Amino acid sequence: MSADLTRISAAALADKLQAGEVSSVEATRAHLDRIAAVEPAVHAFLHVSDEDALATAADVDARRAHGEQLHPLAGVPIAVKDVVVTKGVPTTAGSKILEGWVPPYDATLVERIKAAGLPILGKTNMDEFAMGSSTEHSAYGNTHNPWDLDRIPGGSGGGSAAAVGAYEAPLAIGTDTGGSIRQPAAVTGTVGVKPTYGSVSRYGLIALASSLDQAGPVTRTVLDSALLHELIGGHDPRDSTSIAEPLPDLVGAARLGALGDLSGVRVGVITELQGEGYQAGVLARFHESLELLQRAGAEVVEVSCPHFTYALAAYYLILPAEASSNLAKFDGMRFGLRVEPSEGPVTAERVMAATRGQGFGDEVKRRIILGTYALSAGYYDAYYGSAQKVRTLIQRDFAAAFAQADVLVSPTAPTTAFKLGEKLDDPLAMYLNDVATIPANLAGVPGLSLPAGLSDDGLPVGFQVLAPAKADDRLYRVGAALEALLENEWGGPLLAKAPELEVAR
Ligand code: GLN
Repeated sequence: MSADLTRISAAALADKLQAGEVSSVEATRAHLDRIAAVEPAVHAFLHVSDEDALATAADVDARRAHGEQLHPLAGVPIAVKDVVVTKGVPTTAGSKILEGWVPPYDATLVERIKAAGLPILGKTNMDEFAMGSSTEHSAYGNTHNPWDLDRIPGGSGGGSAAAVGAYEAPLAIGTDTGGSIRQPAAVTGTVGVKPTYGSVSRYGLIALASSLDQAGPVTRTVLDSALLHELIGGHDPRDSTSIAEPLPDLVGAARLGALGDLSGVRVGVITELQGEGYQAGVLARFHESLELLQRAGAEVVEVSCPHFTYALAAYYLILPAEASSNLAKFDGMRFGLRVEPSEGPVTAERVMAATRGQGFGDEVKRRIILGTYALSAGYYDAYYGSAQKVRTLIQRDFAAAFAQADVLVSPTAPTTAFKLGEKLDDPLAMYLNDVATIPANLAGVPGLSLPAGLSDDGLPVGFQVLAPAKADDRLYRVGAALEALLENEWGGPLLAKAPELEVAR
């Protein structure tokens, strides 16, 4: 019974809660039990909030018993990436420099989750300050992929994806600056959505690159993502880049899509995001999915986005530039860690140097150096200026492509999950995991990844759907249709094929 509660979708659990078949306390306890059993192997969480989660659950149960009108997801537990600030709950962004910091406020999306009555199970592991594609850059140890514990769960949001994939949580929050929701979803066989830039508040997210960052859902089904996206999204006056418009009907689009009819929908296959560098099994599953879309009535066309070839290069100038400025506030004076120099005078500058020297990991230092270099007076035009021009060209490629197609598609990541340690000493190889996800961040358009089957190595492959800005509903329509068609072929969800984790008792 309690195992069932962790295996079903958030939507199905919400139905059971509404029907009074189970209580939120039972559902929350089932997930906390699962966390206790599999965390020694998976390590998806940096902090588990047992008591707070159960208190919220009990409160929701009491309100429901009094006949109060509750949010549809009330009582469904959720996990939150540790880059999102949570009042009274430690928040580290995977960094030693924030060890021991307890935020005095909640991010807007956390406020919305709390107001809707979702018990927060805890905070999930991530690459330090969301820099990475494997969660190996976390200062608190890596997370393991539930499909194969020797492999990476993707990054930077590997904790959220692994928690959902290992049935520790039905819902999780991720953040995506260059792919950190979608790539972990792809390699763990889960669903992840990066919403349109500005459609989910960034207030209370610890910033990596402010012009690229966007929070979004990580779930096991497309409908669950739509439900969570509607809960966290929408205008927030506390975020100056928040879009002051209501979201499109995402849940409606997912329900429509699930009927499986895509007549009249034009699907554009991006020429530049396939071929060389993509694993054969990834491409095979991608093409099979395209056939299914065609059979559902979609018109599949090929579109070229010639400047996507430069997206990675532009991203690795723009991101470090913004990150170097955003991370300047971690100085040993305001948050978390403070290290005094081991010898010599204790001046403010020397405390900052000692704190940053000890508190930041190698990848963070690498990007701060890259960013300050790219922004320095003599090189600004050559590097940062050129990268911004490329960004404009990529935005134009999208505009031209969306004139020919309603959605664009590609594999989410070029390969399946690689082995832990395999790319750790090769930053460029690590960066290449995001070739297919980065263009969407540079243009601010939304993207969804859903499981498309297993590659020849038996590991999950992700299928990416991209839509024009503010047309996130299209992701859900096409995503839900493809999910229904694929599950029909497989006879159930892909995750059902994952090996059972050895459970500690
Ligand atoms: N892997 C990319 C990076 O290292 C994406 C990170 C992200 O989306 N937060 O920058």
